[in-house]
Amino acid sequence: MMWKNLSTTIKLASPIAAFCCLWRTNPLHRMEDPRVDLVYSSDIGVGRTQYLKWDDYFMAVTLLAERRCKDICQTRAGASIFDETKKFEGIGYTSEIHPTVDIKDAECHAELNALLSRNSADLKNSTMYVSYFPCNECAKYIIQSGIKSVVYYTNKKGTTEDPYKDPKYMLQEAEVNSKPFQTFLRQITIDFRGKDPEVGTSSQNDQTPKKNEDPITIKTPLTDDEFFMAMAFVASARSKDPRTQVGACIVNEENKVIGIGYNGMPLRFNDANTNWGKVEKDGLPKKDPIVCHGELNAFLFGNVAEMKNSTLYVTLFPCEECAKVFIRAGIKKVIYHSDKQHDKREISRKLLKKAGVKTEQFTPTPGREKIVIDIKPLDKRCT
Ligand SMILES: [Zn+2]
Ligand SMILES: [Zn+2]
Repeated sequence: MMWKNLSTTIKLASPIAAFCCLWRTNPLHRMEDPRVDLVYSSDIGVGRTQYLKWDDYFMAVTLLAERRCKDICQTRAGASIFDETKKFEGIGYTSEIHPTVDIKDAECHAELNALLSRNSADLKNSTMYVSYFPCNECAKYIIQSGIKSVVYYTNKKGTTEDPYKDPKYMLQEAEVNSKPFQTFLRQITIDFRGKDPEVGTSSQNDQTPKKNEDPITIKTPLTDDEFFMAMAFVASARSKDPRTQVGACIVNEENKVIGIGYNGMPLRFNDANTNWGKVEKDGLPKKDPIVCHGELNAFLFGNVAEMKNSTLYVTLFPCEECAKVFIRAGIKKVIYHSDKQHDKREISRKLLKKAGVKTEQFTPTPGREKIVIDIKPLDKRCT
């Protein structure tokens, strides 16, 4: 379908197309920062026009949540909720209903978990992104919570009957719009090794799981640290900054995600009037004093009331301005990926230390230095 057509229509006649083709074969050439690689099936631009589009971002978060499910789940599914202003509201994945109740006896669906971990009471006009079309029960939760639309990754269950007839009817009657996820995005690769020498430099011997340990496969659930840092990485791929893409994910004491953000210009700033350079250009100020940092956005668009004792996962060690905000908000820990600005971060390190905020560099699990999210074309999706 559309995928195929678009990827085959690229002609090598133009130098731009040739360049784009080269990119696809060697995706790491796409960005200066190779930590999150996006593979799109169409040429929608070059450089930082290659950031994650909104729907792709929301579905990536959902598909990442799916990777938290235990492999004995009947249906490994994820769900996320974003409000009409694109603000993160909640995330969930199929889980046990209680730690003492075996998951084989009862499962809690991703949709309900996303609703239970929401950050606002009012979900009016929000959109839920789900791995599968919701079941009857989840359709009820969605309707009653005020969600206005559902975007589903797949609705195929490999049966000739339509297993979603009733929930489809319910959503339709309740005027909840439902639509399949459509995208040109084919793959997202999160590379925890990044390009910083200090990250993931464990010896080769550590790369292979020890004897008697299960090898890490796609079904091995993501750990807390992997999941939250991966969320920060996915968020960073939304950034339009051509030089430094920073993502952040804030998690409260109960491991609930209370904010996600990436670095960007302030709200209502026009892309056309934006200067991402390091010097003033055409009367537009340089980016540094203007740009809102990823962790600041995660905080400002997050659940501020629950910040006390929370943990910040961030792809780059915070600057002192952000450190001040998080210290004041009562954060207890910062887990960062890169420290490439180490020499400029003396003040923030000092402030965080004085305030008793622990800082820790993220170390990838041996065998899971990369997380690849494959997005199958619509006609190839099936459970
Ligand atoms: Zn359900
Ligand atoms: Zn900052």
